Amino acid sequence: MSEKVLQVDDLKVYYPVRQGLMGRVLYVKAVDGVTLDVEKGEVLGIVGESGCGKSTLGKAVCKLIGTSGGRIVLNGRDITDLPEKELRPYRKQIQMIFQDPYASLNPRMTVHDIIAEPMIIHKMYSTKQEIDAKVVELLNEVGMDAYHAQRYPHEFSGGQRQRIGIARALATEPDLIIADEPVSALDVSIQSQVLNLLGKLLRERNLTMIFIAHDLAVVEHISNRVVVMYLGKVVETGTRDELYKNPLHPYSKALLDAHPVPDPTARKERVLLEGTIPSALNPPSGCKFHTRCKQCTVICSQVEPEPRRIEGCHTVCCHLFDNVGEPATIQ
Ligand code: SF4
Repeated sequence: MSEKVLQVDDLKVYYPVRQGLMGRVLYVKAVDGVTLDVEKGEVLGIVGESGCGKSTLGKAVCKLIGTSGGRIVLNGRDITDLPEKELRPYRKQIQMIFQDPYASLNPRMTVHDIIAEPMIIHKMYSTKQEIDAKVVELLNEVGMDAYHAQRYPHEFSGGQRQRIGIARALATEPDLIIADEPVSALDVSIQSQVLNLLGKLLRERNLTMIFIAHDLAVVEHISNRVVVMYLGKVVETGTRDELYKNPLHPYSKALLDAHPVPDPTARKERVLLEGTIPSALNPPSGCKFHTRCKQCTVICSQVEPEPRRIEGCHTVCCHLFDNVGEPATIQ
């Protein structure tokens, strides 16, 4: 039987913004009712344009920011509103790999101290020798050498810094890793090295991961299942093959058509994504994508579409599928 590491139910992250002379409060709905789950050993890719809420979702699941509604269940325990003291053991179970390897490592700490810090905070080992040995083991695992431990982050390239970030995330032996655009700040040649390293670690350690990215090729390379987000909401989800071979939502199709393929002539009909993502402060009514959708009809601007399960775990939120498949919870 599959084992759920993470369950997110109807999660909301709203930011209040005061507007006008009267100080009217409006809300930026960065994450607006997201439901998803992640099974043990699975890599769940989350894709969408910049501003769709995917990084906010990752930070909320990691408990780095507060939530406005919904539930986060980790290993069967609801951690949504746990006070910091009770949350501490769960912090060990979720670790994050950040987008910017230049900003996410403390420049005043040696690599040894950066990797050792989470092990010390969570009291994982009783002696300094054990911690030192573990730091070297982790450095070797991410393709670095023991002597690197005594150096500082500024002495390394972006790719090496991201390897250090990965070693730090592995230090607590977490049940879930959230990788937030882990290669997007790196040169293309380095991206593949870091992705191959992540792939190797996923296989060898049977890791469970949420992999957040705007680059569909990167997500396809690493994920088992993919969630597409638009303006704070999940619009389509499916296995990697279901989603990449047969995207259903017009937004997913446009995203896929926007990403380069080896033989561009092989695609007969391309759906172009026009315009920019609307403001989450004042989102469109009905289907949030209707202002950019070429297949928009009258109902689209009036009624928000309900999720429909088409087949397997392939689920879509679009009025084009109102009479297809079964009603579903999109996850
Ligand atoms: Fe386009 Fe309408 Fe589907 Fe939204 S519901 S994606 S506007 S067809």
